[in-house]
Amino acid sequence: MQTYDFIIVGAGSAGGALAHRLSENGKHSVLLLEAGRSSHLYSPVPVGFAKLIDNPAANWCYEAEPESAMADRALPVPRGKLLGGSSSINGLVFVRGQALDYDTWAQLGNRGWSYADVLPTFRRMEHYEQGGGADGLRGAGGPLRVREVPDQNPLYDALFSAGEQVGLPRNADYNGADQTGMCKTQTTISKGRRMSTAHCYLRPARRRTNLNIQSGALAERLIFEGKRCVGVRYRQGDAVNEARAHNEVVLCGGAVNSPQLLELSGIGRPDVLKAHGIEVLHALEGVGEGLRDHLSPRMGWTLQPKGASFNERARGLGLAREMLRYAVTGEGFLSLPSAPVLAFLKTREGLETPDVQVHFMPYTYNSKRKLHALPGMTVVLYQMRPESLGSIHIHSSNPQTPPSIRFNFLSNELDRRTTIDAIHWTRKIVNASAMDGLRGKEFKPGTDVTSDDEILDWVRRTAETAYHPVGTCKMGSDANSVVDERLRVHGLDGLRIADASIMPTLVSGNTNGACIMIGERCSDFILEGAAAA
Ligand SMILES: Cc1cc2nc3c(=O)[nH]c(=O)nc-3n(C[C@H](O)[C@H](O)[C@H](O)COP(=O)(O)OP(=O)(O)OC[C@H]3O[C@@H](n4cnc5c(N)ncnc54)[C@H](O)[C@@H]3O)c2cc1C
Repeated sequence: MQTYDFIIVGAGSAGGALAHRLSENGKHSVLLLEAGRSSHLYSPVPVGFAKLIDNPAANWCYEAEPESAMADRALPVPRGKLLGGSSSINGLVFVRGQALDYDTWAQLGNRGWSYADVLPTFRRMEHYEQGGGADGLRGAGGPLRVREVPDQNPLYDALFSAGEQVGLPRNADYNGADQTGMCKTQTTISKGRRMSTAHCYLRPARRRTNLNIQSGALAERLIFEGKRCVGVRYRQGDAVNEARAHNEVVLCGGAVNSPQLLELSGIGRPDVLKAHGIEVLHALEGVGEGLRDHLSPRMGWTLQPKGASFNERARGLGLAREMLRYAVTGEGFLSLPSAPVLAFLKTREGLETPDVQVHFMPYTYNSKRKLHALPGMTVVLYQMRPESLGSIHIHSSNPQTPPSIRFNFLSNELDRRTTIDAIHWTRKIVNASAMDGLRGKEFKPGTDVTSDDEILDWVRRTAETAYHPVGTCKMGSDANSVVDERLRVHGLDGLRIADASIMPTLVSGNTNGACIMIGERCSDFILEGAAAA
């Protein structure tokens, strides 16, 4: 059996950052197990996300259980399955969230997680190309390169003017002091290339002799001696191997897979484990509970044919031109994130901070994700801090069987109200006079869908998620929490979790940045502990 100081399961946003930091000082041996492949051809090219979102070569391609609240549809739950994890297939939008998010985590009893506590980590991890460092809020010199979208487009200018007209002024840095307003998106793209954790954290670390990265290695079960986790059993091809950890095992499998691996190992709700014939090693009620995600209606408008939409610019000969431009300059359609313009807004008087995020995409596409022939704009919006809670539990004791994902979306009145109001707000922006020369017809949901009931019905029939599941091994000290404030699993030794699953609440925005921050902070906790030992 191979022995390491640390074993990390999952090389995604958090796991990639953690592996880099734990192996950095050369004092510790680290094994990083990744179930997926080492890379995929489409991953480095930003627009490649459209080709990876349902591609089993680099994606777990999970589906949620059909629920009546979502018209019995099985919502897609894509998750990255390669080095870099979901950071290697995501939409490349970079949002930290609000200070309020992290202050809420601290208020819930998690010492060390207020915004003042996590800000140094957010700064350390990034290199903000628009000038990080000087303001005390943004970072310079960190591994993760972040930059504002350089693309220019009359549509973006019209949207910014429309925002002004409805009381949403342009915000130069929504990851700075205040999130509110209309913004050019900040992206994890540099020189036209995706900045995944595989690229930013693992590539510089891969030649370290103390870091062993194994791809195609599916962790099937944790190995325990009493209540101490001492290793991992994993499958690589036809071989089943075991690796031992002197110090600790850290789960970074993400919000779907980390609770699954705990349950497969006998840790979780006894009724769930017994139903699948798994012996209870350690009862922990919160495993798999507390699931939240951003439920995201996708609205659609046609646009006047003036070249503002990529439907015209990226088809036929236009696509060939865009490919050439990308090859020569690293710019153009192929180098864009999923949405180049964002809005953060408050749906109600009296809110201190925005409760809704809107993504403006200068293209429309069909159910096969092919661009429409006519010019158009897709607008994806969501309530940022939903209250509805779902769950993820194993379906079977077979590690290869996907777990059962139940979102329980729209089960909370605040979520229903905010989602409806977000749609009204989006219409207000797009219908402002500044958009008159560009706006065509609203075709999703369509101008005949107006009452709250009609809007909610459309949401139930069409909305998907924004692919931000969190909370299934939440951090805290109440009966439903799974890890403590230093990410140690309650009641066990030698086992931590660092990924989206530990978030006690959803952050106000896209989740990749927060996950990398969690991986970075976990490395601090572990290295501080190792230094003190
Ligand atoms: C299609 C899509 C678009 C998104 N768009 C954005 C966006 O634009 N901006 C943004 O900020 N966020 C976005 N997100 C969300 C964001 O990328 C994720 O929240 C974040 O990457 C999750 O990080 P993680 O570390 O929790 O898990 P992941 O990054 O998913 O990593 C988990 C890793 O563990 C591996 N693994 C799992 N189980 C095992 C096992 N048993 N053995 C070995 N390895 C295992 C997986 O293969 C994976 O590589 C998007 C996500 C998706 C899927």
